[in-house]
Amino acid sequence: MKAGGFSVTLIESPDIRIIGVGEGTWPTMRSSLERMGVSETELFRHCEAAFKQGGKFAGWTTGAADDAYYHPLMVPQGFTQVNLVPHWLLTRRGETFCDYVSPQGRLCDAGLAPKTITSAEYQGLANYAYHLDAGKFAPFLARHCMEKLAVRHVLADVVQVDQDESGEIKGVLTRQAGEILGDLFVDCSGFSALLLGKTLGVGFKECRDVLFCDTALAVQVPFDSPDAPMASQTISTAYEAGWTWDISLPTRRGVGYVYSSAHQSEESARETLLRHIGREHKELPVRTIPIRAGHREIFWKRNCVAVGLASGFLEPLESSAIVLVELSAKLIAEQMPACREVMDIIARRFNEVTMYRFGRIIDFLKLHYVLTKRTDTAFWRDHVDPATVPERLKELLTLWKYQSPWFFDEFDRLEEVFPAASYQYVLYGMGFQTEVRPEETVASAPLASRMVRDNERMTAHMQSRLPRNRELIEKIQQYGLQPV
Ligand SMILES: Cc1cc2nc3c(=O)[nH]c(=O)nc-3n(C[C@H](O)[C@H](O)[C@H](O)COP(=O)(O)OP(=O)(O)OC[C@H]3O[C@@H](n4cnc5c(N)ncnc54)[C@H](O)[C@@H]3O)c2cc1C
Repeated sequence: MKAGGFSVTLIESPDIRIIGVGEGTWPTMRSSLERMGVSETELFRHCEAAFKQGGKFAGWTTGAADDAYYHPLMVPQGFTQVNLVPHWLLTRRGETFCDYVSPQGRLCDAGLAPKTITSAEYQGLANYAYHLDAGKFAPFLARHCMEKLAVRHVLADVVQVDQDESGEIKGVLTRQAGEILGDLFVDCSGFSALLLGKTLGVGFKECRDVLFCDTALAVQVPFDSPDAPMASQTISTAYEAGWTWDISLPTRRGVGYVYSSAHQSEESARETLLRHIGREHKELPVRTIPIRAGHREIFWKRNCVAVGLASGFLEPLESSAIVLVELSAKLIAEQMPACREVMDIIARRFNEVTMYRFGRIIDFLKLHYVLTKRTDTAFWRDHVDPATVPERLKELLTLWKYQSPWFFDEFDRLEEVFPAASYQYVLYGMGFQTEVRPEETVASAPLASRMVRDNERMTAHMQSRLPRNRELIEKIQQYGLQPV
């Protein structure tokens, strides 16, 4: 650490490729990029960026042809003032929970963008995140960090990690650039966890007993025509032993099948993927990516903190990996130890928060599986086995039979990754039953009615104003958005 500030060196192997498949992000990405001084227009121009307004989950509940629900990015109308769940449960007229409380499912169905060309950068009428080409996004960010944020970028292979007698990391020896010394080392070496795992010996806690998927097959599918409609939601479709992600970028779709090898052979999984993308694409190259679901036992040890895949990975069902990178990077920046003396205190707090976050993501991902009514394959039957459900989630599911999750339940921690709104969308999207006593809705009925009307009005307003997804992306690439 230098007096009066810090210098940051990014060491990256010229030969070891990035994983290159993280294509779905969270709305947090907008504030992260804005804070870093990245232009949103440039993001659209250089990273194949597209809008993401949530996830559409098909086939998760019954597997029937019309089985689908949305987990949108907008919280239910009036969420901090009134819980609309009991009102929907009592009065619904065939309307989905998502449509009752938010415009976003209908915007996605209509293929609309979340903003217009006159919206300023990072501002939108509807909440949004991005789909992007990970292979383009990483070098785009690296370039920005070098040119605008004075990060030193060293293209070199780390071949040895040097520790002092107390076990602290002193420096890393690289093949091309010699020894590079430092005070704090951020291990972002991907699945290899070169510093925290291999050097400092921090163990890995698997969670395959809860989440079974351990392999991904990834493929890039071209559009049939350059003006083909683009979904502005990630589409996750459930299959016999896993699920596919389907992400629309301006020039192609990024598709992958994430499955459990204990329940399906790779040959059969490739058939499932082909069923999803269509046999006409059978010659496209498919990448097999092994997934080890779990996380490090701790994330910050001595003067080394792991971020990204080095810290752990859970199946990408809710795109929860890059957001963890953002949250960890923000926390490290905000809590940057002023001296070695305070580093262990900060490390302990970082470990607590990150462990909590991983735990809650595991719970939330498992929720998508435990609510299924599918019994067609062992994969789905095994997922509802109570022995595979975390205790905390079991307890909450019992509670939610009698009261729905709401914002001031226990989901109000600052470090919460999935708020109660997310639980509402998944629970009631998948037909969970919460018992409602009519008298409990009486006091809030006028406010609830107003919010429902507001939602209808807002939906109509957005439907009339918002352009189609592809149309707006092309305009942004051509003319740009107004800088903030
Ligand atoms: C199938 C799959 C789908 C995913 N989908 C999503 C998604 O939709 N949304 C989401 O948020 N996340 C997703 N992720 C996770 C996401 O891709 C990662 O969290 C994100 O890309 C960050 O990866 P990383 O930088 O930690 O690791 P990597 O991308 O693996 O980068 C590791 C870096 O370390 C360098 N390195 C390694 N060893 C050395 C060495 N010895 N010397 C020097 N450099 C070294 C490499 O060169 C590379 O630059 C997905 C992951 C997988 C596997």
